[in-house]
Amino acid sequence: MKKILSFDIGGTKIAYAVINDKGEFFTKVSKQSTPKTAEGIAALLRETISKYEQEIDGVAISTAGAVNNANTGIINNPGNLPEGYGQTDFQGLSSKPVFVENDANSAGWAEYVLGAAKGMRNTVVLTLGTGVGAGIIIDGCLLKGKSGGAGEMHFKIDCQHRMCTCGLEDCLEAYVSGNGLAAEARISFADKNATSYDVIEGLKNNNPAAREAFDRWQGHLLDGLIAVGNLFDPEIVVLSGSLAQFVEYEKLEKIANERILTEPFKLREAVFKNDAGMLGAAMLMFHKNNTLK
Ligand SMILES: [Zn+2]
Repeated sequence: MKKILSFDIGGTKIAYAVINDKGEFFTKVSKQSTPKTAEGIAALLRETISKYEQEIDGVAISTAGAVNNANTGIINNPGNLPEGYGQTDFQGLSSKPVFVENDANSAGWAEYVLGAAKGMRNTVVLTLGTGVGAGIIIDGCLLKGKSGGAGEMHFKIDCQHRMCTCGLEDCLEAYVSGNGLAAEARISFADKNATSYDVIEGLKNNNPAAREAFDRWQGHLLDGLIAVGNLFDPEIVVLSGSLAQFVEYEKLEKIANERILTEPFKLREAVFKNDAGMLGAAMLMFHKNNTLK
């Protein structure tokens, strides 16, 4: 049986576990704080890999940032990781094959192979966290584009002049991310210090301002779902990330399907939570790397 040591590298935490080709975990998930320098991250990876190297057949890495089509490295340095991280020589970290994929793509693949979208060959997984990520599977293949960077949810959906992390204004990400919900909170509570947490807490207590903020946020999400439905004609759209648990699935599914031009799609919550990236990166490596079959 083949086994992969799989990492999930984010701005605050690096998590890892050993996973087999059925998606079963052979170790518990270990977590460490992300080192502050690119050299520190590489050293942590190298040290961890050396502990497991004898018992594994490969190393998978789910990471922030767009990953090239050879799955060897990152195209642009992600904003939440230290300068120079994007130039990391991932293959140089191990004598075993090393496979790299973007975290939203990895999470999308996990849902497609083993999760909420199992067996549905046209699947879009939107990750609603601090930012917004997308993993898009079309005809059973992960959509990568010419450079590997496809699936960026940076297109304009409103005209409030709301700054997005990408430098443009009014992108989907600026409205349906956690930052987007915080922006709605500041408006509805008329408080510049209001947060997305205040909205979630307020919903539990039937606070009208919280409801108003959440409804506007969810209305933007509906616009995004209609765009995704029309663009990709998916069988299912899966929502993951910290905000996915609060979405009103039946309601949004019904309205989106009344408004799209394509056939109806299902809207569901992701099955995998924090482990989705490392699970998906490992499963994608098994899928793509012939030496592991
Ligand atoms: Zn943007």
